[in-house]
Amino acid sequence: MTSDDCLFCRIVSGELPTELVAQSERTIAFRDINPAAPVHVLVVPRRHEPTIGALAAASTEDLADVFALIAQVTQQEGIAEHHRLVFNTGSKGGQSIFHAHGHVLGGKVFTER
Ligand code: 5GP
Ligand code: ZN
Repeated sequence: MTSDDCLFCRIVSGELPTELVAQSERTIAFRDINPAAPVHVLVVPRRHEPTIGALAAASTEDLADVFALIAQVTQQEGIAEHHRLVFNTGSKGGQSIFHAHGHVLGGKVFTER
């Protein structure tokens, strides 16, 4: 499923430009437009599912590939040993784009929970 109204589907399809960091058959990674850390990469399954939980329920292959690409991105960006992963879920969880994605954050020291 894809959605014409979904920003990340439009990035996945190539309709909207982005700063690509890595990609695989199932997943793409690109830089966040409003970075919260020196390294801030979004890792996005090509398949449209609203949340990471919905993705897990829909396809373990797609879920596993998100984490494989996260590992590749942290290596590429030199933050494999020190980084933070965030999956905001639901509006009360801070999610603003309802196409599942992980935030890979690094290049700074994280102290707050
Ligand atoms: P969420 O709040 O849903 O967890 O994360 C959405 C993220 O997408 C935010 O960190 C926001 O800065 C980022 N974002 C929103 N619009 C765009 C865009 O057009 N391009 C890119 N690269 N990132 C975006
Ligand atoms: Zn989408």
